Amino acid sequence: MTKKERQAIFDKFGGHCAYCGCVLQKGWHADHVKPIRRKFKYDKSKQKLVHNGECRHPKRECADNYFPACASCNINKHSLSIEDFRKLVSGFITSLNRDSVQYRIARRYGLLQEIEKPVIFYFEQYKSEA
Ligand SMILES: [Zn+2]
Repeated sequence: MTKKERQAIFDKFGGHCAYCGCVLQKGWHADHVKPIRRKFKYDKSKQKLVHNGECRHPKRECADNYFPACASCNINKHSLSIEDFRKLVSGFITSLNRDSVQYRIARRYGLLQEIEKPVIFYFEQYKSEA
């Protein structure tokens, strides 16, 4: 990817993460909106899976399929579709209540408030100034 292509991805949503809307910092990721699903093979010398340079959906390697994303959103989205990523984020309150003692205590002390609302990604409400 050239610097110009990467800049065009950065500019898609005014320098914000396409998903959470945070201002992108150095080290932001170019997310494949529709996942390309890289192929991996086991490397005996490294004792781990390594990317073999191929992917299951090579036609998705195009400018239209890239969104700018913060590292956190891109890592959590991983190879999920947009709708599966939305389901994942929607379930975070449930998993916090199940798995985090600190979260449950903070809720009991009224330090945080849960609200029911749909997960709407930044790109879905972004209005270009152009
Ligand atoms: Zn984000």
